[in-house]
Amino acid sequence: MERHEGGCLCGAIRYETAGAPIRVTICHCRYCQRATGAGFMINANFTQAAHRVTKGAPRVHDHRSEGSGKILHVHFCPDCGTKLHMTFERAPGYVGIYAGTFDAPGWIALDPVTSKQIFLDSARPDAVILPAIRAFAAHEMTNDGTPCVAHVFDAPVTVAQGWPPEQAMR
Ligand SMILES: [Zn+2]
Ligand SMILES: [Zn+2]
Repeated sequence: MERHEGGCLCGAIRYETAGAPIRVTICHCRYCQRATGAGFMINANFTQAAHRVTKGAPRVHDHRSEGSGKILHVHFCPDCGTKLHMTFERAPGYVGIYAGTFDAPGWIALDPVTSKQIFLDSARPDAVILPAIRAFAAHEMTNDGTPCVAHVFDAPVTVAQGWPPEQAMR
């Protein structure tokens, strides 16, 4: 099984994963923008059994999601502040890794079945919506499990050009 390593900026925390991610989420929500200081977050999801912290001990910040009301546990390096992964009240047993913390993050591939782009409603106007990957206004499903409408684009477009899709089709 393929193994990949990653860690924080200062090297105090190191981790390793086994196998491919179960799913990959590109999230444009305000929480992820603020937490990462970037335009969006790329999160690769693994089972807890496929993820191991091999050096150091992250500190945990608990954040209550405005949307779901559930707690997100953000695991970060107490020395340099790098966020390494999240665990979820909503999905026990899973770990969402901040993909940029892998030593070679390019190995995380997007594919139409297991990847998604969410919270396009709060994305930057210059963010690019990727083709072939499902795009959602907010979450993929509501709290009670009802699926939300997915839009799939044929070509890359910016949010200013293509979101929401109904306007783009006028
Ligand atoms: Zn660190
Ligand atoms: Zn988010």
